[in-house]
Amino acid sequence: MQVLHTISQTREIILNQKQKGRSLGLAPTMGALHQGHLSLIRRSAAENDFTVVSIFVNPLQFGPNEDLDAYPRTPDSDIEAAQSAGADLIFHPSAEEILGKEMLAFVDIEKLQDNLCGRSRPGHFRGVCTIVAKLFNIITPDRAYFGQKDMQQFIILKKMAQDLNFDIDMLLCPIVRESDGLAMSSRNKYLSPAQRRDAVVLHRAIDRGMQLYGNGETNAKKIISALVDFIRQTPSARIDYVSIVDEDMQDVAQVQKGHILALAVFIGKTRLIDNHIFGEPVTL
Ligand code: AMP
Repeated sequence: MQVLHTISQTREIILNQKQKGRSLGLAPTMGALHQGHLSLIRRSAAENDFTVVSIFVNPLQFGPNEDLDAYPRTPDSDIEAAQSAGADLIFHPSAEEILGKEMLAFVDIEKLQDNLCGRSRPGHFRGVCTIVAKLFNIITPDRAYFGQKDMQQFIILKKMAQDLNFDIDMLLCPIVRESDGLAMSSRNKYLSPAQRRDAVVLHRAIDRGMQLYGNGETNAKKIISALVDFIRQTPSARIDYVSIVDEDMQDVAQVQKGHILALAVFIGKTRLIDNHIFGEPVTL
């Protein structure tokens, strides 16, 4: 497995693979790899001849008061983990390599970013779309792998790929969870032991939401208000949003199969997200 830091070297290797007729998979990440990331890499390695993992903590997707500087960076263990999951190449560029001196062109998405994380984090998805579009142009994968953990991100990137004619299969992988149900996230590293225990409230809320729906409740407001009450019982938890949306990220009044329960909750200063699709079984 190679680790490359420049666009030109990476393009050379990719061209070589393409000339040999090899299929290419890409798993874009911000590093601090955990089993969630590794599930994407494993799937790509199973479905493609050559798997690229990008590691880039994207400054464009962080707001001014967010955790860009504190974001965990663990390149050595990332390389080992990615390799053992089947990666063939790690593309690990510097911010300067990717952003150049001054970026003036960006990719924006309308409507789909007006709710959920897009509403709470203005400019976030513009940053995500811009960098993923750049990665698509550099790596030119046949398939790209994303986690359901960031469901809105996936829906947005899929629409971006469609609207900008990227000829790439956009594939969604299930959320990988800790044994108590907490969705794995690089940000879980910020949690103190007590906060880590409290963080399970997101998954428990999802479980409750699915139970209410399973018992016949379809009024979105009632489900949301029950979950808000439940989450508020955890003192370290501060709700950013609890929402039920359709695949266009619009709030719904009546819940049906396929709608998405999405939450963002601060545990202390750490903002965690989770989601679940109504009608799908809750598993750990
Ligand atoms: P990140 O490094 O947080 O930007 O995530 C890179 C990719 O890994 C995104 O497509 C995420 O949705 C995915 N991912 C992160 N956490 C998980 C998880 N717990 N389960 C599955 N995929 C995940």
